[in-house]
Amino acid sequence: MDKKLYVCVYGAAGADIDRVFIDESETLGFEMAKRNMGLIFGGGATGVMGAVARGMKKGNGAIVGIAPSFFDTDGVLYRECCEFIYPKDMRERKKMLEERADCFIACPGGIGTLDEFFEILTLKQLGRHDKKIVLLDVDGYFDPLVKLLCGIVERRFAAENIFSLFKVCKGALEALDYIEG
Ligand code: AMP
Repeated sequence: MDKKLYVCVYGAAGADIDRVFIDESETLGFEMAKRNMGLIFGGGATGVMGAVARGMKKGNGAIVGIAPSFFDTDGVLYRECCEFIYPKDMRERKKMLEERADCFIACPGGIGTLDEFFEILTLKQLGRHDKKIVLLDVDGYFDPLVKLLCGIVERRFAAENIFSLFKVCKGALEALDYIEG
């Protein structure tokens, strides 16, 4: 039997976001569970993170949360993980997320998500890993970022091949098809 694929999902902790982001994140989690994939994530109970975890839970999927214990205050962490790991700090957390996952999906999020996306992308550019990376462009959220990256390449601050290091997908199903392909 094939080894279970663990997908690291990065995404917003903040809950005050449009419904479309929550719904697509729940769909992502539910579809991952249906496809027998596991979730590795930052362990948050709210925003995009919470929605992906709830979708996974609905589909009885395996959920691994990784967050430093200073997050462990009322309502912040998702309680229904199969496994919860408490690294000593955010840096160790990012390393664990990176090492335990087989691939990465960056969903809409704030600066925490951007930090995670760019770190994993930079490491791939440097040949430190060769795992698939998806930028989940729900409702055109990442269009300005893609435009920025085009400008960066145009002005020769990065090589054109940075676009071969990740895939922009418009929805959860497209992202998972790419990851499984
Ligand atoms: P942001 O995109 O700024 O909302 O930050 C979300 C990302 O940073 C997630 O992918 C997490 O790994 C981490 N993070 C930020 N805030 C939290 C939180 N309250 N609980 C868990 N992880 C968080």
